[in-house]
Amino acid sequence: LMGGWFLAGRALRPVHAITQAARRITAGDWSQRILTPHSNDEIGQLASTFNDMIRRLEVSFTQVRQFSADASHELRTPLTIIKGETELALRRPRQAEDYQVVLESNLEEIDRMSRIVDELLFLSRADLGEIKLKMVPVQLDDLVREIHQQASVLGKERHIRTVLNKVDPVIIQGDDLRLRELLLNLVDNAVKYSQEGQTVELALVVVNNQVKIIVQDHGIGIAPENHTRVFDRFYRTDEARVHAAKGTGLGLAICKWIVDVHHGKIEFQSTVHGGTCFTVFLPLSSDRKSVV
Ligand code: ADP
Repeated sequence: LMGGWFLAGRALRPVHAITQAARRITAGDWSQRILTPHSNDEIGQLASTFNDMIRRLEVSFTQVRQFSADASHELRTPLTIIKGETELALRRPRQAEDYQVVLESNLEEIDRMSRIVDELLFLSRADLGEIKLKMVPVQLDDLVREIHQQASVLGKERHIRTVLNKVDPVIIQGDDLRLRELLLNLVDNAVKYSQEGQTVELALVVVNNQVKIIVQDHGIGIAPENHTRVFDRFYRTDEARVHAAKGTGLGLAICKWIVDVHHGKIEFQSTVHGGTCFTVFLPLSSDRKSVV
C-alpha cells in the first residue's frame, strides 16, 4: 500500500505542478511556465503543450494591452490639443477671427479623431468577421485610372505629380469598394510621404496568372528596422510622424486585411530617402478572371 501510494504520488507530481501553474496564472501574470519533465511521455507532452498555450496567450494579451495603450495615446493627443487651445482662447475676450482660427484647428483635430475611430471600428468589425464583402467582377484598369485621378488631386497642393505607367486591361472578382479603399490608402501614403515636387508612379500589370498593382514613390522611405512593423496597428515611424503629422497608423493594417480577404499579398521595398514601392498581388485564377 505504501509503495503504491509513493509511486502514485511520484507519477502525479507533474500533474500537480501543472495544476499549481494554472492556478498561479492570472490575467496579470502570463510569465508562469511549468518545468517540463525530460521524458516525452503523455505528461511531458501535456506540460509542453500547456506551456505553448500560455506562450501564445501571453503574446495575444501583450498585443491587446499594447493596442489599448496605443489607441488611448493616439486619441489623447488630439484631445490634449483641443483642450489646450480652447482653454487658451477662453482666457480673455478675443476678436472673432481669433476664435475662428481656434475652431478651425479644433475641427482638424476632431476630423483626425473621427478617422481614428472609424478605422478602429472597421478593424474590430473585420476581426469579428462582420464585414460583408460584395464580390463582383471589377474592371481593375478603370479603377486604377480613377485612383490616378484622385492621386493627382491629392498631390496638387504639394506639386506631387502622379504618373500612370503600364495599365493592363483586366477584370477580377473582388469587392469594388474595398479595392478602391486599398489603392487609395496606398497612393495617399505615397503622396503623403513624398517631398514637394516629387513623382508618384502607378501601374497595373498581369503576370503569370497574377495581377500586380504597383505604387511607387521617391519619398522619405522606411528604414529596414521598421519593415516588419508598418502593417501593425498604430505603428508609425518617427520619420513619418515628423514628415506628416496627420496619419493614424491604421491604413496599412486595413490594406493588409483587404488584400488577405482577396487571397492576395502585399509587399514593399524601400530605401531611406530613396522611396518606397508597394506591390499588391491579386490572384487571377481561371474561374475568377477574364482579361479583356
Ligand atoms: P499612416 O496613417 O501613418 O500613414 P499607415 O498604416 O498607412 O498609417 O502606415 C503606417 C506607417 O508606415 C506610416 O506611418 C509610415 O511610417 C510608413 N509608411 C507607409 N507608407 C509609406 C510610404 N509610402 N513611404 C514611407 N513610409 C510609409
